[in-house]
Formats: sequence, C-alpha cells, structure tokens
Amino acid sequence: MQTLYFCGIRVDKLDFSEIYESMRQYAPQYGAKQVITLNPEIAYEARQSRLLKEAIDKAEFVIPDGIGIVLAAKRKGYDLERQPGIELAEYLLSVGGLSFFFYGAAPGVAEQAVSNLARKYDFKVVGTINGYVKEEEALKRIQESGADVLFVATGSPKQDLFIYRHKHVLGVKLALGIGGSFDVWAGLKERAPEWVRRLHLEWLWRAGLDLNRWKRLSRAAKFFLTCR
Ligand code: UDP
Repeated sequence: MQTLYFCGIRVDKLDFSEIYESMRQYAPQYGAKQVITLNPEIAYEARQSRLLKEAIDKAEFVIPDGIGIVLAAKRKGYDLERQPGIELAEYLLSVGGLSFFFYGAAPGVAEQAVSNLARKYDFKVVGTINGYVKEEEALKRIQESGADVLFVATGSPKQDLFIYRHKHVLGVKLALGIGGSFDVWAGLKERAPEWVRRLHLEWLWRAGLDLNRWKRLSRAAKFFLTCR
C-alpha cells in the first residue's frame, strides 16, 4: 500500500486483496480497521471538520471512491484508479468465510439487500439494523453480533464518524462506510449504466434532478478546483 498526501487530504493506493489480507488474521479486540471511501465532497468537508479530518488521517485504509479524487491525484502526478466502496463491499462478500453486519438505510432495506445479495454470493449475515435507530442501539447490536465485517450505510460523514468514534469497541475486524449501497442492492436505486461509468460520469448521473446532490456537488467542485 502506498499512502498519498495532496491538497490536505490522504488517500491510499492499494488492491482490495491487501485489505482482506490485513484483516484475515486480525483480532477484533485491537479495534476495528476502518475503511473510508473518499470522494471530493468528504475531502472538502474534512477541511471544515477537524474530527472528520482526524478520522480520515487515522483510518487504516482510505480508498479513492470518486473521480474527482482520481483526477486531482493525476494532476499531482499520481496514478490512481477509482475504487468504489460498493465494489470493495462486494469483493468482501465474494471471498467467502466472512460474517457481516449491515447497518443503515430505511427500515427493511438492509434485509432486502441481503436477500438479493444472497442470490449472488455465499456469505454469512449476523445482523441488520436500519440507519434511523439511536446510535447506541445500533452499537449494542453490532457488539453482540460477533461480525467480522461491518457495513455502515448511513451516508457520509455520519457513517465515517460513527465508525471512528466507536472503532475500539465495535468488536468487528473491519468497518466500512458505503453510503447508498444498501439502496442499490435492494433495488431502490440503480448504479449508473456501464457506459456512463466508463465516461466517469457516475456522479452526474446520480445527481440528476436531486437538488441536495447538486449542493453536494458544489462542495466537490470546490475541492477539485482548489486542488491544483
Ligand atoms: N441514511 C441513514 N440514516 C440517516 C441518514 C441517511 O441510514 O440518518 C441512509 C439513507 O437512507 C441512504 C444512505 O444513508 O440509504 C445515504 O445514501 P447516499 O446515496 O446519500 O450516500 P452516498 O453514497 O452518496 O454517501
């Protein structure tokens, strides 16, 4: 793994298999290893929030989930490939032998996501809870589950700060924030078609007519334009 620092942010260059290997023999009592799926909006927010910046700097892995990060890195002379969090999550589901806890999204969505994923991958689920319960309740359920891997899909930065605050007591080996992935797996949201992804326009496709997403994109643009 190579860690890059530019424009006040940190991002790692690695393969998904390195994340898997590092957690395989790992004991959860040492604290969860945290994966942050970095996009330019989060990078921008980290400039305003010390806690978020600290979470990113102290995470075990920060993967470039966002074309703005990849392009900003390229400007600085680094060769990075985009690594969407949803793809890391599916990689972990596909390796076999791991148990998972799904925390996030509206009631019923995580369960639907699990049932759709079970048609594709052979994995063990040890718990699900929606993303609108009190955090203490979610934490307790996660701790009792004995999961190897925790997926938190409550949106950023909420998901990343939840993991960061509790990483020493979660009792899991690996915890990753994966935004809207449960909605995608449950069939409520679609990922952009392949040709849109190839053109690196997934962000534009997702924004569509959603005003909130355009606001988020303006933060992403601010990061990208000021990172030269
Ligand atoms: N969400 C949640 N709890 C909250 C706020 C949001 O579980 O308090 C969920 C929301 O239902 C959605 C996900 O978090 O499933 C955020 O999705 P979004 O597409 O905004 O995430 P992104 O991938 O863009 O970070």
